[in-house]
Amino acid sequence: MLDSASNRPELPPEIARRRTFAIISHPDAGKTTLTEKFLLYGGAIQMAGQVRAKGEARRTRSDFMKMEQDRGISVSASAMSFDFGKFRFNLVDTPGHSDFSEDTYRTLTAVDAAIMVIDGAKGVESQTQKLFEVCRLRDLPILTFCNKMDRESRDTFEIIDEIQEMLAIDVTPASWPIGTGRDFVGCYDLLHDRLELMDRADRNKVAESIKIKGLDDPLLEKHVPADLVAKLREEIEMARELLPALNPQSVLEGHMTPIWFGSAINSFGVKELMDGIAEYGPEPQPQQAAPRQILPEETKVAGFVFKVQANMDPKHRDRVAFVRLASGHFERGMKLLHVRSKKPMAISNPVLFLAADRELAEEAWAGDIIGIPNHGQLRIGDTLTEGEALRATGIPSFAPELLQTVRAADPMKAKHLEKALMQFAEEGAAKVFKPNIGSGFIVGVVGALQFEVLASRIELEYGLPVRFEQTQFTSARWVSGPKLEVEKFVNVNKQHIAHDHDGDIVYLTRLQWDIDRVERDHPEIKLTATKEMH
Ligand code: GDP
Repeated sequence: MLDSASNRPELPPEIARRRTFAIISHPDAGKTTLTEKFLLYGGAIQMAGQVRAKGEARRTRSDFMKMEQDRGISVSASAMSFDFGKFRFNLVDTPGHSDFSEDTYRTLTAVDAAIMVIDGAKGVESQTQKLFEVCRLRDLPILTFCNKMDRESRDTFEIIDEIQEMLAIDVTPASWPIGTGRDFVGCYDLLHDRLELMDRADRNKVAESIKIKGLDDPLLEKHVPADLVAKLREEIEMARELLPALNPQSVLEGHMTPIWFGSAINSFGVKELMDGIAEYGPEPQPQQAAPRQILPEETKVAGFVFKVQANMDPKHRDRVAFVRLASGHFERGMKLLHVRSKKPMAISNPVLFLAADRELAEEAWAGDIIGIPNHGQLRIGDTLTEGEALRATGIPSFAPELLQTVRAADPMKAKHLEKALMQFAEEGAAKVFKPNIGSGFIVGVVGALQFEVLASRIELEYGLPVRFEQTQFTSARWVSGPKLEVEKFVNVNKQHIAHDHDGDIVYLTRLQWDIDRVERDHPEIKLTATKEMH
C-alpha cells in the first residue's frame, strides 16, 4: 500500500511512529525552553526546568563547557527520545553557533525534519537564515514555530512575508494569533477549527482548547473580546486569500513550511506544534548510500555515524558514536559489520538517550539514534550493517576556512599533542594537517571560536597547554587524480603539501590564484573543498 503523501510503501508500525528531527534557531529564540516543553508533554519529565538543571550540572564538568555557558551558546549536540501519544520523537540537538556549522550540517544528515524557531519580535535572524540554508541543501521538511507571542510581537503578515522573502519558501499558517503583547489571548487553530486560549497564570498548564464551528460561530465572542474577534475574522479572510493552503507533499519536499504561533515559556502552542510534527513529520526517510539507497522498511539493520563525542566524561576516556539507524530492528548484543574496517562489532552496550538520562538500549528501530561507546573504531561517516558493504553518503567534510599552527607549550609533549589532535580530527571537531616539510601541525576550522574551544579542551582533557599561531596558509584543498600525476604534483609543490588524519593529500595555499593556477597547469589534478567522510 502506498502512503499518499510520499508515494512510499507503508512502513512497519514501529518505524512509522518515529519522528526524528532537530530544532534550528538563532540563540535566544527559545530552543531550550521549547525542548523542555516537548519533554514535559512527552511525559519524560515531571516539571519543565529539569533539562536546563541537568544540562547545567553536566556543563560544570569542564572549562570547555563553562566557556559555552559564559558565552551563552550551546556547542555540544546530544539526542533525546520521548513518546508523544502513539509517536516516538527523537530530538537531535544542534549547536547554535555558526562556528560549528559543519557539526550542525552533519547532525542534520541524521534527521528527517527540522523545527525552525523564530522570535515573534525579531523574525528571521542571521543564524536562522544560515541554518535554514543548510536544511535547504538537503530539502529537509521544515515546520516553523513563532515564539514569544506573549510579548509585543510583529504583525503576523509581516512575519510570514519575511520568512517567505528571506528564505524563499512558501509559508502556510497552521494557527493564527489573536491579539498581541499583553492582549494576546491565544490562537485560532486553522487546521482543526479550534480556539486555543493561553493561561498566563500557570506556565505549565496545557492550554484550554475549545472546538469552534468555523469563524462565524458565536462561541468565539464568548471567549474573545469583540474587537479581537473582528480583527481575527478579517485577518484570516485575508490570509486565506493571500497565503497558500497547506499542501503536505510540498511540506515533505521542503518547499512549504507550516507556521504555528505560541509561547514556549507559557507552554502555549507547543502541543499543536507536536501534533503537527506527528502529522507532517515525516516518518523515517530513505538514506542515501552507495552502491544503493537504504530503505527504512528493510528488515536488516543498517546505520551510520553522524557524530562522535569524545571524553564526555574526562575521567574515563570514553567515546560515544551517535548512530542514526537507517533500517531494520536493532537489538542489543547484535553483531554488526563495521563496513570501513570490514570487521564485525558486537554492540553490547548501546545507549538510548531518554530525556536527559542515558539508558541501555535493548532495542531500537529505523529512525532512532543510539549511542555506541567505543575506543575510537567508530568515525564520522562510518556505516554499520548486518553484512552488506553499504556506505552512507552525503556526510561531507568541508575544507576549513581558518588555518593556524599549533604547538605544545612544552616541546617534549609533541607526541602527546599529536594524539590529542588526531582524536579531535576523528571526532570531527577540527581538521588536522601534517605538512610534508617541517614539524608541527596545522589545524583548520570553520569559525575562530573553535580554536579557543580546542585549546581549552586539549588542556583540560590532555593536561597540555597549547598555543595557536598564525600560519602562512589560508586555504586547504583535497588533491585527487591519477596516481602518477598526483605524485608528480606533490613533488613539485612540496612546500604546499600536507596529509590529513586519514592520510589523504591536501594542498595548502594562501591565494585563490594558486588554486586557479593548479587547475590551469594540471588539468588532471582535482582540488576539492569537500570530501566525503569514510
Ligand atoms: P535558546 O537560546 O534558543 O535556547 O533560548 P532559551 O530557551 O534559553 O530562551 C531564551 C530566553 O527567552 C529565556 O530567558 C527564556 O526564558 C525566554 N523565553 C523563551 N520562550 C519564551 C516565551 O514564549 N515568551 C517569553 N516572554 N520569553 C521566552
